[in-house]
Amino acid sequence: MRIAMISEHASPLAALGGVDAGGQNTHVAELATALAAEGHDVRVYTRRDTSDQPVAVPMRDGVTVVHVPAGPAEPLPKDELLPYMKDFSRWLVEQWRGDDWAPTVAHAHFWMSGLAAVTAGRQTGVPVVQTYHALGTVKKRHQGAADTSPARRIGYERALGRAVDRVVAQCQDEVRELVRMGVPRNRMALIPSGVDSDRFSPEGPAEPRDPDRPRILTVGRFVERKGFADLISALKIVPGAECVVVGGPPPTALDSDPFADRLRHLAESTKVADRLRIVGAVPATEMPRWYRSADVLATAPWYEPFGLTPLEAMACGVPVVATGVGGLNDTVVDGLTGDLVSPRDPRSLGMALRRVLGDPVRRFAYATAALDRARQCYSWKRAAEQLGTLYAAVSGLGRPTGAVA
Ligand code: UDP
Repeated sequence: MRIAMISEHASPLAALGGVDAGGQNTHVAELATALAAEGHDVRVYTRRDTSDQPVAVPMRDGVTVVHVPAGPAEPLPKDELLPYMKDFSRWLVEQWRGDDWAPTVAHAHFWMSGLAAVTAGRQTGVPVVQTYHALGTVKKRHQGAADTSPARRIGYERALGRAVDRVVAQCQDEVRELVRMGVPRNRMALIPSGVDSDRFSPEGPAEPRDPDRPRILTVGRFVERKGFADLISALKIVPGAECVVVGGPPPTALDSDPFADRLRHLAESTKVADRLRIVGAVPATEMPRWYRSADVLATAPWYEPFGLTPLEAMACGVPVVATGVGGLNDTVVDGLTGDLVSPRDPRSLGMALRRVLGDPVRRFAYATAALDRARQCYSWKRAAEQLGTLYAAVSGLGRPTGAVA
């Protein structure tokens, strides 16, 4: 099949760690690669955000990244991209009509890509599959007035759920949210993200560390909802442990970063500054080294659409202490591969971390089960196979798929 993946703000070629570059970029890159490995021809359409970007960039065999001229050729926050989606879809229509590469199916990632894909799909007869990655209703519930999404986001997301041929949910929690939004179950498929277990594995080099100081690793974009502040507050009841924060701006920009500053101040006021190390953004290729250096991965988001980092840690044989929200309820099995605690509850987080760090037998058992779960239950190959079946069904090439349970 010829698969058009639309990812307006999240390029699979982008450096990760910044405010708008994280899980979706990884997801699109890994999925495109896995679909190409299944023999499909994949084009990833993403917004052109620098003037020197060539239109088409080969990413690997079977995957081309196409830079779509829509809006100024400069980086813009994703919440400012809605006005340019009309140009985005117009450009897709021209390409898909004029080119000899008419897609069999379009798979949109994030709601604004969905708008562009549905508009272009209607004019060209291309069926559309939608993955939201994050839902406006959930974001608004947790962030309230701090949510900078365009006001019409929630309405558009609802409409999209009925306009597309299928919606791909990534976890059970998202299925429930989608049902509440009125998306019929027979239009949904539950296909979780995967992890590359060849790259993320316990074997291989690790970042150097102090063997006498337990290491808690946390990874994420520098946004409030990732709960870094809760983790730093929790640190005071986890004696002796160091907390290593990966993500955010590049290391050279950390000194002047206001978010990093706030974390440093909080660490000072809670008297854990000597145990906090903020590393900054790390290239994707170096992530396994950081996971392997940790005794535990802590992730304390207020909400989490899926959460790739816990899965990456698990695939490296690292137990996870997480808040029991969104996709983390599916990936982390409480009491088996790690511990789940309530969000925004530094005390419970600290207690769970203290227990896992103080009990090597529990840690070993969690690590073993975590590795097994990541390897056996989550792979991009499996996601690509399931999506291949779905794409065939919506484009009339295969058998219809059933409703999500
Ligand atoms: N990541 C990275 N370098 C960093 C920080 C994060 O390569 O400095 C990657 C990380 O390995 C993961 C992704 O960015 O693949 C983050 O995905 P996740 O789903 O955990 O969070 P999101 O960004 O979607 O909120």
